[in-house]
Amino acid sequence: MIVFRAQRVVVDGVEQPAAVLVVGESIEAVLPVDTLVDAHEVVLGPEEVLLPGLVDTHVHVNEPGRTEWEGFATATAAAAAGGVTTIVDMPLNSLPPTLDVASLDVKRTAAAGQCRVDVGFWGGAVPGNEGQLRPLHDAGVFGVKCFLIDSGVPEFPALPDPSAALRAVAAYDGLLIAHAEDGDLVVDATGRRYADFVASRPEASESSAIARLLRLAGETGARVHVVHLSAAAALPMLAAARASGVRVSVETCPHYLALTAEEVPDGDTRFKCCPPVREAGNRDALWHGLRDGTIDMIVSDHSPCTPDLKRLETGDFGQAWGGIASLQLGLPVVWTQARERGIPLAEVVTWMSHRPAELVGLHRKGRIAAGQDADLVVFAPEQPFTVGELRHRNPITPYAGRDLRGVVRSTWLRGAPIEDEAPPRGRLLVRGED
Ligand code: ZN
Repeated sequence: MIVFRAQRVVVDGVEQPAAVLVVGESIEAVLPVDTLVDAHEVVLGPEEVLLPGLVDTHVHVNEPGRTEWEGFATATAAAAAGGVTTIVDMPLNSLPPTLDVASLDVKRTAAAGQCRVDVGFWGGAVPGNEGQLRPLHDAGVFGVKCFLIDSGVPEFPALPDPSAALRAVAAYDGLLIAHAEDGDLVVDATGRRYADFVASRPEASESSAIARLLRLAGETGARVHVVHLSAAAALPMLAAARASGVRVSVETCPHYLALTAEEVPDGDTRFKCCPPVREAGNRDALWHGLRDGTIDMIVSDHSPCTPDLKRLETGDFGQAWGGIASLQLGLPVVWTQARERGIPLAEVVTWMSHRPAELVGLHRKGRIAAGQDADLVVFAPEQPFTVGELRHRNPITPYAGRDLRGVVRSTWLRGAPIEDEAPPRGRLLVRGED
């Protein structure tokens, strides 16, 4: 038995003093802070806060097949260092992509024994594989992802009309998550000017694709989720759809909440992602969307690649890989912004832990409460640091050298600290298994 004692414990969206009793892999009870218990004591300092482990449902691990971009060992080590105790891996950029049960098995075999945090998997919906979606669901994926626009890799083709996939998903009451940009409203951009790149992928392209998704979700009754929302212009439409009964949830990412188009240097392709980081006013509107509940959660969209693919030597936004590596940094990046905006840490934790766990139905994750997995993070929110070396396989990130607040001092997975010397203890998660 272990008891964590702290003046600041995030419980149900607020901070309170508490003693958190852990028995084996689970939280047994949340008790008054001075309760006497015969257990190993972990007493947090006055500057430390006990958080539930973060849940990041949008991570591209890329293994097998593009393991030189990232991999289960490095991704999950980076996650642990960043206070993330559960990740859900995207179905693309690995080879094979996760488009049927056989490819899911290949990925599980690749991940087995390597993971320092718990890992779940998304499946993929592409033209013609509607018949595979139910088998993937039954095999334990947490939902299926489609791209309404080109995905960037040829083996995962776009599904601009997801009607058939939505009908299939609705039939088993599953979840379809969508990259929502409209290829008809996106133009090819080349060159070093960041403003040109942003203009090539306008807010209207997101709004158009989201409108189509919402309409089809309404018609089929399927549950849908919009990944990595960048365009705040789509927020009123999303709120209206939800109010009218469409089953939709929305995520955004640390980069859209922390970075602005104005600050991206021309030629600095470390900042390239799709949809793009937009202007400061858009960033403010996304924060507003979080606070008013239109946006449900914040997840990383950690999508790294090898340094050469960022084409830093030419700085051409058209040719560079689009994806931002941030798995280890999501919490301090978001918290640094939230803190400046006067938003409580507990609210950030709801967005980065409880809500993503809810999205995928991981009922034992995302909260400090009796019966939950003892996934815990000791966090020092006021401690400043400068982004230096990271555990990601490739060191490229737009946050390099940034001054942030909030240091993860230790991360606990199901009752034990995650330590480099110990063998990886992460489990491969299956939907519906508690
Ligand atoms: Zn992604």
